[in-house]
Amino acid sequence: MTAVTLNHVQKVYNKVPVVDDLSFEIQPGEMFGLLGPNGAGKSTTIRMLITLTKPTEGEVRVAGHDVTRNPAEVKQNIGVVLQQTSVDGDLTVWENLEFHGRMHHIPPRERQHRIDRWLDYVELSDRRKDIVKTLSGGMKRRLQIARALLHEPQILFLDEPTVGLDPQNRRRLWEIIRDLNRQGMTMLLTTHYMEEVEFLCDRIGIMDAGKLIELGTLDQFKQKYGEGLAIKQTGDRMESHFFPTLAEANQYLDSLPDKTGVMIRESNLEDIFVELTGHQLD
Ligand code: ADP
Repeated sequence: MTAVTLNHVQKVYNKVPVVDDLSFEIQPGEMFGLLGPNGAGKSTTIRMLITLTKPTEGEVRVAGHDVTRNPAEVKQNIGVVLQQTSVDGDLTVWENLEFHGRMHHIPPRERQHRIDRWLDYVELSDRRKDIVKTLSGGMKRRLQIARALLHEPQILFLDEPTVGLDPQNRRRLWEIIRDLNRQGMTMLLTTHYMEEVEFLCDRIGIMDAGKLIELGTLDQFKQKYGEGLAIKQTGDRMESHFFPTLAEANQYLDSLPDKTGVMIRESNLEDIFVELTGHQLD
């Protein structure tokens, strides 16, 4: 059974399809990254997957359940970390988890056991009595992850999980995300940070204007677009050109009578993203 299935999914707002004929699957245990410029439809896709909004057309299945027909079953099987911190700032760390645990009808002893376990895992045990609004951004995000894991979901959805975090906190969160995936958790994450996808994701889907324009592993992308890159700077403009290998890019440089402003390096995900979407991420 696939963990996530989207089959010719469309979402229309005000007669405009913001997600348009989207089809892809995520296998159990996979770490899938959804990339795209602002307005590409990533959040709308996640919102359909987590039952916050219904698809206009097409089929969306999560953990074997149809999101429109069986939203409660879907919710039982997923954990969600959204962009905007959704923990309650006026409650303590423990109260946030206790509330979530009760909502999911986890029995008291088991609930306390899991709260202890996940607080320890995200290194917040010593902050359990603190009011959440007194925590740093990184701590709040770790609390969101602990909360998302409390009911032991099969699939975790992370919408821009590290946005606004400093590099140290971002790294710590990457370690947690990677560790959870290694323990078998299926994950879908959206992000603006290319290095996040390169570091974390097994497979990548690139969306633009509501459509999936590329799907595969980073290695497959590099094979397809080229592993070598020549960048030429002319005034303020940067032009780049892909070559199948770095050696071929270097041969090209050698063949140029005037090498001024030309740089050769290995291509990366950002180069491929810019080539595909014509946008730089902001
Ligand atoms: P992304 O997450 O890739 O930045 P979104 O899914 O947030 O993209 O948005 C895709 C498009 O759908 C945007 O043009 C956005 O304005 C539009 N959109 C999103 N939510 C709504 C809504 N509730 N009503 C109307 N339009 C919306």
